[in-house]
Parts: sequence; C-alpha cells; structure tokens
Amino acid sequence: MTDKHNKLDLWVAETHQDIVSLGFKVKETLFSGTSPYQQVDVVKTSGHGVMLLNDGIVMVSERDEFVYHEMIAHVPLFTHPNPKRVLIIGGGDGGTAREVLRHPTVERAVVVEIDEMVVNACKAHIPSIASALEDSRLELLIDDGVKYAAQCRDAFDVVLIDSTDPIGPAQPLFDKTFYKNVSGLLSENGIMVSQSESPFYDSQIQESMFSNQRPFFEKIHMYTFSTLTYPGGLWSFGFASRGPCPIRDFNPQRVEASGIATRYYTPEIHKATFALPAFVRQSLSGLIDPVPL
Ligand code: SAM
Repeated sequence: MTDKHNKLDLWVAETHQDIVSLGFKVKETLFSGTSPYQQVDVVKTSGHGVMLLNDGIVMVSERDEFVYHEMIAHVPLFTHPNPKRVLIIGGGDGGTAREVLRHPTVERAVVVEIDEMVVNACKAHIPSIASALEDSRLELLIDDGVKYAAQCRDAFDVVLIDSTDPIGPAQPLFDKTFYKNVSGLLSENGIMVSQSESPFYDSQIQESMFSNQRPFFEKIHMYTFSTLTYPGGLWSFGFASRGPCPIRDFNPQRVEASGIATRYYTPEIHKATFALPAFVRQSLSGLIDPVPL
C-alpha cells in the first residue's frame, strides 16, 4: 500500500496457527539479524512503540509489555512467602528480570537466554525494558534453558519460563523432562510460572503442557491477562507449585506495603486473574486444579 506521496506504507504482521494475522504499522526498522536460532527484528511502530519480533512473532512492545512482565513476575513473587532466588528461562529482553528485581527480598536472579542477539538488540534499542540486564544482582547466562535445568544443582524459590511459542529451541521448554528438571530445582515452597499461550487458539498446546507438568507439581493453576499485541487479545500463564496456593497464601497487604508501583497488577487482579471462562475450565478439566476464589 502507498500513501499520496508514494511512500511505502510498511506493516509487520504476525500470523498465528496459519488462521489469523495481527498487523502493526512500522515507521522504521532499527535492527534486523539472523542468529543461529532465529530471525531477530526490532522495529519502531506507529502506535505500539519499539517492538521485538523473533521469527516474525511479536515478543514485546513498549506499549503493552508492562502487562506481561508484571503478571509473570508479581503473581508468583507475591504468593511465595519469601522469594530470594529466582530463575528466568528465556526472557532475553529483560522485562521479566526488571519486575523480579523490584522485589527487595530477591538476592539472586538468573536469566538463561539462548540467543545473545536478542539480548544485544534489546539493550541497544529497548533500554526501558532491557536495562535490568545490567543490574549487579542479575546473572545473565547465554545458554540453553533446557540444558541448564538438566545440569543445575542450585535451588530456586521461583522459576519463570518466559519463552516463545513451542517451536524451534523453545519446543523442549514445554516437555515432560524439562518440567521434571525444573520441579527438581524448586525449594520447599517453590513456584514455577510458564507462558502458556492463547486460551482461544492454543487449547491443544495447553492440554499437552499441563498434562506434562501434572506428575511433578502439587498444585497446577492457570491465569489470564489482556494483551494488545498477541493474537486473540487474551493470553495466559501456568502456575505450578510445590505447595503455595495463589489465593489462600496471598496477602494483599504485602502488595500495598511493598511500595512497588504497577500499571496493571493489583491485589484485586491477583485474585480475579485466576477466574477462568467456562470453555477454558472445560478444556483443561482434570489437568489444572480449581482455585478457592
Ligand atoms: N514475552 C514473549 C512471548 O511470549 O512472546 C517471550 C519473550 S522472550 C524474548 C522469549 C525468549 O526465549 C526468546 O528471546 C528466545 O530466544 C528464548 N528462548 C527460546 N528457547 C529457549 C531455550 N531453550 N533456552 C533459553 N531461552 C530460550
């Protein structure tokens, strides 16, 4: 498409499941490269700020990244009684690390991202998200999270799987062996939260993912959040724990007392986010546990 001055009207469009496409108008390409793992692009959009795409799939946009990153981090960190050690697998953009490091109890945070090109592109072009990667409390490892989980002997209170869709190097992050290894890394009250795709479009992925987690965790739940930049507008995280319940063990006063200023997450959202639509409860029946809302 061209405008009246014959300039190109550029759009990036993410296609999901080969049935739906979500497009964003682009002002400028800031970075484009091919790593051993994927195509990495950073573009400046007209309405969503700077955006990172891996293999043409939207990872983060400046406009709505706060929703994803606050929800992946604060729900488990405000459920765990005393989160000190946090492992993030994937998450090379730095947004999840940024939110984790806002918790004063956190003494050690480790990010294991497979693709150095993602880290460097985000540091160069999206510092509002990536600046946490420079924090002295953070250990950034360029490595395969699957291998790390299999070999690591350290214990973590919270493990966050901030991964892409289950394709390419992220595929084994949805497998039974990986979940078994992550459950072995968790301390007594440990919690794992994992990116669990679209409730509308990806119910089969969710069913396989939660049945792969089931043997290794005492409690398995799912929660949802709104997104502007992922297809379908509603996305989800899996919450698996060695004991803590995100409702019973949640104390809203801890959120108020923390002084952590958020733009999406609130104590009310913490609880309401676990209320699932009937069609989701039905498709995941027997695979996830009800929450005492
Ligand atoms: N919020 C995003 C989403 O759901 O679209 C995820 C963002 S984050 C950038 C995902 C990262 O996971 C990517 O940078 C990718 O390189 C990384 N990743 C994929 N497979 C991985 C693996 N096996 N080990 C570590 N990182 C991996």
